[in-house]
Amino acid sequence: MSLFNKYMILYKTKEEIKIMRDAAQVVSRTLGEVAKLIKPGVTPLSLDKMAHDYILSQDAKPGFLGLYGCPSTLLISVNEQVVHGLPTERPFEEGDIVSVDCGSVYKGYYGDHAYTFKVGKVSPEVSHLLKVTKECLYLGIEQCKTSNRMEDIGYAIQQHAEKNKFGVVRDLVGHGLGKTLHEEPQVPNFGRRGRGKKIQNGLTIAIEPMINMGTEKVRTLEDDWTIVTEDGLPSAHFEHNIAVVDGDPEILSTFDYIYDVIGSDD
Ligand code: MG
Ligand code: MG
Repeated sequence: MSLFNKYMILYKTKEEIKIMRDAAQVVSRTLGEVAKLIKPGVTPLSLDKMAHDYILSQDAKPGFLGLYGCPSTLLISVNEQVVHGLPTERPFEEGDIVSVDCGSVYKGYYGDHAYTFKVGKVSPEVSHLLKVTKECLYLGIEQCKTSNRMEDIGYAIQQHAEKNKFGVVRDLVGHGLGKTLHEEPQVPNFGRRGRGKKIQNGLTIAIEPMINMGTEKVRTLEDDWTIVTEDGLPSAHFEHNIAVVDGDPEILSTFDYIYDVIGSDD
């Protein structure tokens, strides 16, 4: 993402982190509602409407709607779409993979996380891409501690993705999160070990590996939003919100509401 807040990292107090956990959990529950509905024949637009109403029912507001001119509550990216897909009337089909990215604002703070869902049964190759991308997310999170530097996060993600012969998207990155959706620092999904700023307590970031089955190269569609892979091969995206507390990462968001519905963690 490109609009960052004054090149300064805004470290949060434990009180702020508590509110940010509530904001993140609004998104977590919304993604749990998405999990209940997503299947062949369902349209992205119907999920978007549900998510909008659900977030309002949680005393929160949609985080993306209206921001940078975003027309929707969810960003829904199917198959070769990497991120920033705008919800359409085109129904999901058996075998699709669908990244659903959702933002919330709760008591002035943003939540922002994402899950790539399988629609029905997907091929073993695509299933492997999803598994590896989710592993990349948690490997990145593990690095989020005060003994490390920022690029250790991207280094861990990149190593695991490339070991599996997948492409790591360079043009889009994770980000700081707080009273604005995109703050410093940028959190690339690639990097060199031991480089970048020292990680400090109170850091709040969104880590979001975007991993492609083929080339790392992406392009933007004519709608000026949807990012797709250049070679048309599938892409996966998982995102969590993290705070660094007492030296270690705390995951503020959760996929548990999704797992309650789909019955497993893959
Ligand atoms: Mg997101
Ligand atoms: Mg994000």
